[in-house]
Amino acid sequence: MPRVYLSSPHMSGAEQGLIRQAFDENWVAPLGPHVDAFERELAHYVGVGHAAALSAGTAAIHLALRLLGVDRDDEVLCSSLTFSASANPIVYQGAAPVFIDAEPSTWNMDPALLAEELEACAKRGKLPKAAIVVDLYGQSADWEPIRTACARHDVPIIEDAAEALGADYRGKKCGTFGKLGIFSFNGNKIITTSGGGMLVSDDQSLVERARFLATQARDPAPHYEHSAIGFNYRLSNICAAIGRAQLGVLDERVAARRAIFQRYREGLADLPGIAFMPEAPWGRSTRWLTCILVDEAAFGASREDIRLALAAQDIEARPVWKPMHQQPVFRGCRVRGGAVSAGLFERGLCLPSGSNLSVDDQARVIDVVRTISRR
Ligand SMILES: *Cc1c(COP(=O)(O)O)cnc(C)c1O
Repeated sequence: MPRVYLSSPHMSGAEQGLIRQAFDENWVAPLGPHVDAFERELAHYVGVGHAAALSAGTAAIHLALRLLGVDRDDEVLCSSLTFSASANPIVYQGAAPVFIDAEPSTWNMDPALLAEELEACAKRGKLPKAAIVVDLYGQSADWEPIRTACARHDVPIIEDAAEALGADYRGKKCGTFGKLGIFSFNGNKIITTSGGGMLVSDDQSLVERARFLATQARDPAPHYEHSAIGFNYRLSNICAAIGRAQLGVLDERVAARRAIFQRYREGLADLPGIAFMPEAPWGRSTRWLTCILVDEAAFGASREDIRLALAAQDIEARPVWKPMHQQPVFRGCRVRGGAVSAGLFERGLCLPSGSNLSVDDQARVIDVVRTISRR
């Protein structure tokens, strides 16, 4: 039996034609026509003014923080329940992350806790320089109250939509709710460039500045002239070729992941002690990964028992993200709340959810979980 992965790359078949075109034109370099086209096509898809293609989603978050002037000793609010790449760039800038707990209905940043933290910051006379808000597992955060709370204190939002390309909130695409938004095209995401990211904004000057910083901050001059510290963060023309072909099947990929979620629900929902990550009525999720919550007492086995039983059958499953406020590397960082995300980590399991997961392989996964429940 072949190994079943959590989320593996899923090519459309159109990638190699576009890569060949890049080779034929010898655009085997960072930048090039595929990069420009990928930026235009992605911006058009999500309905945002401008986009800069970058080497990773992490690079996009780092540049977003630079563009907002986040610097040494600043504070930046961040969802606690997320991948570490949401928070690491805060530390690259010498700033301090302040983590905000999740709400049970979306698993995303709790708008009430965010508002509380902002009030407390205002009282102390030190507002955060930015807030990084994640759309977790493809479920949009509750943008209305989050934007209202941040606008009240003039705190700009970076939307980490790495897992939510193709998701929406009240009919508007995720990635467009902050001053800046970011996407990831890592190999395990909804679509992939084998590695890459995108920074988007309606503010043209910010995106132009991002492109400048991402290409070593070269001032206009015949020689190499620099008035700022730059980065080598641009996407290659080859990777952009892959991305364009992937963008063409994005809606199919989201539909496939949603169908996988549906099949898990049909296959497991009758089991006592199994619950699914909710989908908020106002936000259509990508269902990047199907996440279940295991109530050990009711189910008769723990989250970890299920994970190990799947691993024994060469099926990859992973616990829900361990919250940032529980990570050793962020020890000592301030956190508001924390029990909700800690509980989701303790009971939550991500099941194989790649858009190329076959019905047969998914049946194997469902079978293992059902077998344990009868033990
Ligand atoms: C994958 C991911 C990132 C980082 O993207 P990379 O392209 O891997 O650098 C950031 N935030 C979240 C929530 C992610 O899932």
